[in-house]
Amino acid sequence: MERLQKVMARAGVASRRKSEKLIIEGKVKVNGKVVKELGVKVDPEKDIIEVNGKPIKKEKPVYIMLNKPAGYITTMDDPFDRPIVLELVKDIPQRLHSVGRLDCDTEGLLLLTNDGSLTYALTHPSHQIDKVYLVKVKGSIDSEAIEKLEKGIELEDGMTAPARVELIKRKKNYSVIKMTIHEGRKRQVRRMMDAVGYPVLKLKRIKLGPLTLGDLKPGKYRHLSQKEIKVLK
Ligand code: URA
Repeated sequence: MERLQKVMARAGVASRRKSEKLIIEGKVKVNGKVVKELGVKVDPEKDIIEVNGKPIKKEKPVYIMLNKPAGYITTMDDPFDRPIVLELVKDIPQRLHSVGRLDCDTEGLLLLTNDGSLTYALTHPSHQIDKVYLVKVKGSIDSEAIEKLEKGIELEDGMTAPARVELIKRKKNYSVIKMTIHEGRKRQVRRMMDAVGYPVLKLKRIKLGPLTLGDLKPGKYRHLSQKEIKVLK
């Protein structure tokens, strides 16, 4: 929910100040009712806002792929004042949110959008998409651990679905695997790896459904192509 005058300003009606004036003058309706107070909050996607009897323009949907660096959080504000991912996309005027989450320490592909229905579709448990992670773990991983991951792991919140695992590198002190899961439980990869005795040292998401991170540098973002948007929907 956002302040009415902010939503009006972003839709190009007028500046925020002028939008406030229009509200006070009784020229603005929300869902058919005149609103004259300035404190009113609206849902820019669901509420119907009219100015002088005309509906305001819907905000243009934007779809951004960000390579999230470690140390940034995906929630929109943080009680501990850690940096938030939105600081990395400051020049996008639309109000964005992240599709799902990545832990503060996790890097990689994060989708940001103002399209609530896409977010709902992609994160709803009945329609979860594959997420592929590169996982660097402590120790030399054995095939028994990999088999366990491939069967599913018993966590405090129940059994996980089987993961797909590909061994990329096995050294004396560390290993790297590629792991595909489709659920989106909190700290799922980290907890699965803890459960098999190989704690995560570094975690990076490289794919989200049909989207691939490619060579996007950490901290950088790009708009999705029309083709990418089409396959996501
Ligand atoms: N699994 C995790 O443990 N952390 C993430 O950020 C994403 C998946």
